[in-house]
Amino acid sequence: MAPLPETQRAWVHRSKGGVPHFTLETIPVPRPGPEEILLKVEAAGMCASDLHILDGTTPLPGEYVLGHEIVGTVAAIGSDLASEQYPEGLRLAVHGPNGCGKCANCKRGFDNQCQDPVKKWYGLGINGGYEEYVVVRPAAVVPVPSEVSSEAAAVTTDAVLSPYHAVKRGGIGPDTRVLIIGLGGLGMNGLQIASHFGAKVIATDLDTSKLAIAKQFGAQETFEQLPEEPLFVDVVLDFVGTKETFESAKKHASPLGKIVPVGLGATELSIVPHVSAIMEHQFIFSFWGTTGELAECLDLVAKGVIQPTVETCPLEDVKDRLHKLEKGGVKGRVVAMPSLK
Ligand SMILES: [Zn+2]
Ligand SMILES: [Zn+2]
Repeated sequence: MAPLPETQRAWVHRSKGGVPHFTLETIPVPRPGPEEILLKVEAAGMCASDLHILDGTTPLPGEYVLGHEIVGTVAAIGSDLASEQYPEGLRLAVHGPNGCGKCANCKRGFDNQCQDPVKKWYGLGINGGYEEYVVVRPAAVVPVPSEVSSEAAAVTTDAVLSPYHAVKRGGIGPDTRVLIIGLGGLGMNGLQIASHFGAKVIATDLDTSKLAIAKQFGAQETFEQLPEEPLFVDVVLDFVGTKETFESAKKHASPLGKIVPVGLGATELSIVPHVSAIMEHQFIFSFWGTTGELAECLDLVAKGVIQPTVETCPLEDVKDRLHKLEKGGVKGRVVAMPSLK
């Protein structure tokens, strides 16, 4: 394998007195442990979760490199791994939840719910993708099909995988009547996925420019404001997750309907038991997705079934672009690429 540089550029998150700091620094290029892979980062997608860590809404203390939507190529492997399996240059997408592959949940395929007590998520507690080289474990990587660009694959690891998992959690299939609330990056991908599974999708967003795109992606009906009368859909996927949208979700779910709050826009949501009991509503939560689902998502992107909207930028621009995200100045997803100048 090619010799590795000693140092690299990295966006390091640190909390000082509870206040998050986020700076571009020069840090050592790590060397992989016996059972680890060192990836040369090709692309790292930016997520609203990064913003929420940096603005203190959902603090995640510690010193680590942010960036949890990662694609890279094999740069070095540990002594216990075979180069036939992980040849230099092999392009891999990283499964952010970082399942150990060994516990009961991982073995059942639910590696987004790994029971390893010391495990942390890549870019969310341990080093992630806003750097040039990142160490990952073999259980947490999925090969990227040649048809998929690294930037699209990076976005797929979260902005496609999370809605895909939510669609599965909601049991969405042919003719399921689905209401999608919020057509940001995840919602728009969720719409494409639900339509792909044969669902009849209604979509709502306050931004009317997104409603036209939603129609192109298969929405049968769109609303800027939802109607007064309940729509009585089978499943509501709420990609906003505020108190207001959760109330809408409950209102428009049919009896026996499922409500899946995907967006985490509220610290608390309320349920009135006697109303939910009479309706027999099911509240289903959803977290990220599994490696098996990530492989399925990459396949759907390769086939053009899901077309994530992606912009790219150099690694240096991460902080600026995250702030732009904050102001709502970004459509789709922004991906940092260390190779860009
Ligand atoms: Zn994310
Ligand atoms: Zn595990």
